[in-house]
Amino acid sequence: MIDLHIHTNYSDGQATIREVLEIASRKKLEYIAISDHYTTTSKQNIIPTLSLEIIDKYIKEIRATTASFSTKCFVGIEIDCESKFKDIEKLPLEEFELIQFEDVFSINILKEVCELIDKRQLQGIFCLAHPAIHFYNDSYPVDLDFIRKQLAPLLVEYNIAFELNSRYTHRWANLVPRIKALLDMGISFSIGSDAHFKSDIGGVLEQYEFLKKMGGLKNIIKLSI
Ligand SMILES: [Zn+2]
Repeated sequence: MIDLHIHTNYSDGQATIREVLEIASRKKLEYIAISDHYTTTSKQNIIPTLSLEIIDKYIKEIRATTASFSTKCFVGIEIDCESKFKDIEKLPLEEFELIQFEDVFSINILKEVCELIDKRQLQGIFCLAHPAIHFYNDSYPVDLDFIRKQLAPLLVEYNIAFELNSRYTHRWANLVPRIKALLDMGISFSIGSDAHFKSDIGGVLEQYEFLKKMGGLKNIIKLSI
């Protein structure tokens, strides 16, 4: 199993990087990603966030720590896309193996994400972090035509996965037709616990069961070391 969305005490998580890896290895997770928050909006006054000053230390510590565990850990980050893109551009984006883009509230923000990927020629794994929130709130138009003609083509072209996130499982039932449309379009799905507490790490069974029921296990993001 994989869990590509875990927070540490570099932002608002409970565990250290080493503790995350100890737990993930004990639970025999194949791949994880540590993806701490980065925001430059007023949320930084509420949520502890990565800063440009500590980002190098964060990346190096993940790389150094993962080497001694059986679980492969991707160096990730969860970028708040409500931050100004000129702030986001200051990040050493090329250093990350996985980038979670959160709060991609509209197709225009998604286009900005795609422009950033192009401009920096990024090669990592990309995900929309818990996009189900926006679908649920109908920030995105709900019609399947929108998904097929506007959303899905961008996700395919830029290889951006759609995340199923453990904190919002209660919302999936409302999303079935839209998720079905995404699966039919060949979109990759990422799986993440969004763990902030140690006990949440690897709590991803519901996603596997949900995708299995939808015939979507083949859409789970393909990963390699
Ligand atoms: Zn998160």
